[in-house]
Amino acid sequence: MRAAVFHAGSYAPGTWLSLEEINRPLAQPGHLLLKVLACGVCRTDLHIVEGDLPAIHPRVVPGHQIVGEVVEGATPAAPLGSRVGVSWIGGVDGECWYCRQQMENLCDHPVFTGYTVNGGYAEYATVRADFAYPLPAEAKPSRVAPLLCAGIIGFRSLRVAGVERGERVGLYGFGSSASLAIRILQSWDCEVFVVTRGESHRQAARARGAAWVGDEDARPPVVLDRAVTFAPSGKVVVSALSALRKGGVVAINAIHLDQMPAFDYDKLLWGERQLRSVANMTRQDARDFLALALALNIEQEVTEFPLAEANKALEAVKHETADGSTVIVL
Ligand SMILES: [Zn+2]
Ligand SMILES: [Zn+2]
Repeated sequence: MRAAVFHAGSYAPGTWLSLEEINRPLAQPGHLLLKVLACGVCRTDLHIVEGDLPAIHPRVVPGHQIVGEVVEGATPAAPLGSRVGVSWIGGVDGECWYCRQQMENLCDHPVFTGYTVNGGYAEYATVRADFAYPLPAEAKPSRVAPLLCAGIIGFRSLRVAGVERGERVGLYGFGSSASLAIRILQSWDCEVFVVTRGESHRQAARARGAAWVGDEDARPPVVLDRAVTFAPSGKVVVSALSALRKGGVVAINAIHLDQMPAFDYDKLLWGERQLRSVANMTRQDARDFLALALALNIEQEVTEFPLAEANKALEAVKHETADGSTVIVL
């Protein structure tokens, strides 16, 4: 099969991946073999190919927002020919302390799709059957793909931030994840304030009905109840913290941050303000978000790339040049 493969150490911008013919994977017991229809491109993929996340294997096929058709290993929940989605968490051990406490997102021995195992930048992929989410046949694969990580983790970020109906919420950064999170917030009657660099992202935020939109140095005109930061920048986290009311929460939706700058505890954190990180997702987050997104009929705008242009797709994420979410279609 054709696959876009990352070789550890291949960090030169724009040539991270090489298009290769590799063996089609075999469906091991308990796994589904999927014919990949679309695979979303996530900032985490960029962190992998740029070495911000250490290489686990000498070679890996990235991609963890997979929409695929079941071609082998079918189960009653995922019959032959049906469509399923795959996300970043591709498996957990089910026995560590975190798994036993219903915190499988923090599992000590996780499988990460497209990082510790091969992912979806390929014609076929395998996934543990109990980590595949049934999807409706009528949904367009490229439009559903961004829901599978950007969407689910954005949703988990709102949970971690403790957002309640009708609150004022700041979104710092307006890429794939934030542009899906705003739809959920609006369905909860929240007022959304967006701080983001890049005029195209500001325009997108206005088009999505943000109450206020500002550039990266701007400050929302009101104090915020909650904020979620999406940019991989510690400076942005401090800026979000400085916009919170007492008792407010900032949830950091980033697997990698450049660095946290020093900040003034007395002014910014005292008063029971909280800084929390968001790590991965549970299957329950995925099920709850997908049910909500499909019920709200969330239609994500996407920019599509063929598999042969996987490097260009990664560049579009790096430079934030694509409209909406970036997706590889097969
Ligand atoms: Zn575990
Ligand atoms: Zn992701």
